[in-house]
Amino acid sequence: MPELIEVEMFRAAAEAVVGRTVSRVDAPDSWFLKHGLSADVLGAAVLGAEVLAATRRGKLLMMPMSSGAVLGLRFGMTGRLAVDGRMPIERLEFSSRRVDPAWVRFELEFVEGGCLSIIDPRRLGGVELDPDVSTLGPDASTVTVDELRSALGRSAAPLKAVLLDQHRLAGLGNLLVDEILWRSRLDPLRPARSLDPDEQRALARSIRSTVQVLTRRGGSHTGDLQVARVPGAACPRCSAPLDRRTVGGRTTYSCPQEQT
Ligand SMILES: [Zn+2]
Repeated sequence: MPELIEVEMFRAAAEAVVGRTVSRVDAPDSWFLKHGLSADVLGAAVLGAEVLAATRRGKLLMMPMSSGAVLGLRFGMTGRLAVDGRMPIERLEFSSRRVDPAWVRFELEFVEGGCLSIIDPRRLGGVELDPDVSTLGPDASTVTVDELRSALGRSAAPLKAVLLDQHRLAGLGNLLVDEILWRSRLDPLRPARSLDPDEQRALARSIRSTVQVLTRRGGSHTGDLQVARVPGAACPRCSAPLDRRTVGGRTTYSCPQEQT
């Protein structure tokens, strides 16, 4: 559930450790280290190194280190970031508010004091070194109509599946895509290539503005469609019974009256 809005909150919190030097790395769960990364290799790359920045592309948080390595952090469905013992997000839609020490999958401590940790009950997130950003599409929060047009391409896949595909457009998850398509009055099942230029322009605008509005409200779960994400609910705008379908492998709510 952390979508780009939540990961951006994590990134902003991680700014607090920029300029600090890593004194200890704790990665107790080898499953959480991705692409063959071992605790030894991770330690060699970050121990004694200074955090130079906290950046983000889509749902990937990156911390370039003075050693030349880039630490990549992913949060999966239930991962949260804690910095100096504080969490920018207390609870996630599908996660627990409580923190079990066994859920701390990764932790950095600093010479200057404080720590940065990932707490992930379902351990679907992960840590990697030098993540390959070239496999990610442009960040959805700033997507231009040209970028969106090339993301949609000639794909016959459902519009929703393409918007969820991080290789084409980075950062959107299930809740944001349903909210964006509902606001845009577009059917999630429309073939991606079927949008005309006006629809492409309107969709690019809607992606950026929906991210902005929900960021101000406090997260991906604050959309106007959110209250209606229950079986049998009515459209909050026109009161028609909503469709509940599986699109792109995800539970999808949409208005059959307005979304065409
Ligand atoms: Zn409606």
